[in-house]
Amino acid sequence: MNAILPAKSVSPAKLNAFPVFMRVEGRLVVIVGNGEEALAKARLMSQSSARLRIIAEEPEAALVAWVSANDVDFVRQAYDPAHLDGAVLVFAATGEEVHDARVVADARSAGIAANAVDRPELCDFFTPALVNRAPVAIAIGTEGAGPVLAQMIRARIDQMLSPSLGRLATLASAYRDAAERLLPRGNARRQFWKAFFTGEVAHSVAVGDESQAGLSASALLRNGGRTAGHISLVGAGPGSEDLITLRAHRLLMEADVIVHDALVPEAVIALGRRDAERIAAGKRKGCHSKSQAEINDLLVELGREGKRVVRLKSGDPLVFGRAGEEMAALRAAGISYEVVPGVTAAFAAAADFELPLTLRGVASSMVFTTGHDLRGNSLPDWAKLAVAGATVAVYMGRSIAADVAARLAEAGLSPDTAVAVVENASLGHRKLFHGTLADLPSLEHRSDLTGPVMTIIGDAVAGANFDKSEPLAAHKGARVFARAQ
Ligand code: SAH
Repeated sequence: MNAILPAKSVSPAKLNAFPVFMRVEGRLVVIVGNGEEALAKARLMSQSSARLRIIAEEPEAALVAWVSANDVDFVRQAYDPAHLDGAVLVFAATGEEVHDARVVADARSAGIAANAVDRPELCDFFTPALVNRAPVAIAIGTEGAGPVLAQMIRARIDQMLSPSLGRLATLASAYRDAAERLLPRGNARRQFWKAFFTGEVAHSVAVGDESQAGLSASALLRNGGRTAGHISLVGAGPGSEDLITLRAHRLLMEADVIVHDALVPEAVIALGRRDAERIAAGKRKGCHSKSQAEINDLLVELGREGKRVVRLKSGDPLVFGRAGEEMAALRAAGISYEVVPGVTAAFAAAADFELPLTLRGVASSMVFTTGHDLRGNSLPDWAKLAVAGATVAVYMGRSIAADVAARLAEAGLSPDTAVAVVENASLGHRKLFHGTLADLPSLEHRSDLTGPVMTIIGDAVAGANFDKSEPLAAHKGARVFARAQ
């Protein structure tokens, strides 16, 4: 056999069914059938402004219920070819091959395109899996090869697109003439539309403020498509790229610049546009990185340049993320910004451990803390909460684990209190450890943990699943050995 394929077979495959968008507004679509298939087509077509006629002599209850709740012409008679008069599309959904074939033959002889449910050989057209953001429609077709595949693709596209996209597109139509009149063809117009669909206008539509959207669109038009910058402080989640929010994903895809912390993995940053500028802001212990003041200045500068910036922070941006300082700098400079929450490390670690952070009758409050406020003589205020039964999540606590344990013991927490530790929570190579407060200091001397570490302390930890975790205490010997050297 010849291993080299002839050139013909590598040319792109041809579509046997070509997608077109058919004008159906006010026109008649007929569905013939009594049961579920007819109902499915009725539901699909009712997403359009076509007039619907349903022919069903013995309709099933669900179809009757649907018909009575919707504005359709319901013909409760045996099918007759005259029922197809004036239709632009016909669906044969009788469930019986001979009946479907007859309906299709009648439609064809009247010059009407027909579709017979689940009988591709009888179909003049196929219905797509549909993402509906009217007036925007995305139709997915597989020529009948894989309805499940089409639905999977549909679900992914649906997630990517803002629910308010349709309203935004409608607003866009209202500005089309003005944009064509006022902006020269080419770059300026393109820039206007890009800003329109991603910037303040889109944001105002998304939050339901149509009048602000109109104001922003008019301002954008006056400025010839030039926009003010906007900074989104976005939570990237704990590391796994499918633990970011849909909103974060959308903003990443729209950003001109992504400014990210060192803890945010490449896979998450890669969700952004490929041509977006990426700036590592550092902030990893022991590595050279920008100072907080430099980061604040950078964000202000990018905002002044009119950039759409995603400031990507691990976990949630408002939890030990120094977002407070960045927001203050942006506010002071008059630059618009928003905050998008993310899954914080404590939640990811708890999920990995199947650990209830609140537990009925055991723990009804929770503390997010960092050991780094331990300096000085006074007991930290959260130590009292721990003693009172709160679940404590310690961020950045590995290198000061002994201090944390000592302070909690001093406050009166029992050395037997359960402790869970997760390195690289949510990621494939995560490591889980369990033990007691007495074991916690050992964490400080482990050189095998190089990733971020979350420590959770409290009685609720006892409710976790320890099947996949190692005892913390097991490492004590290693510590002593290392010290002896
Ligand atoms: N804003 C982040 C926290 C930043 S502080 C959030 O909400 O999660 C950095 C600390 O977060 C790390 O020292 C570690 O304690 C914790 N952390 C972040 N990602 C983590 C992960 N995947 N696993 C365990 N701990 C993590």
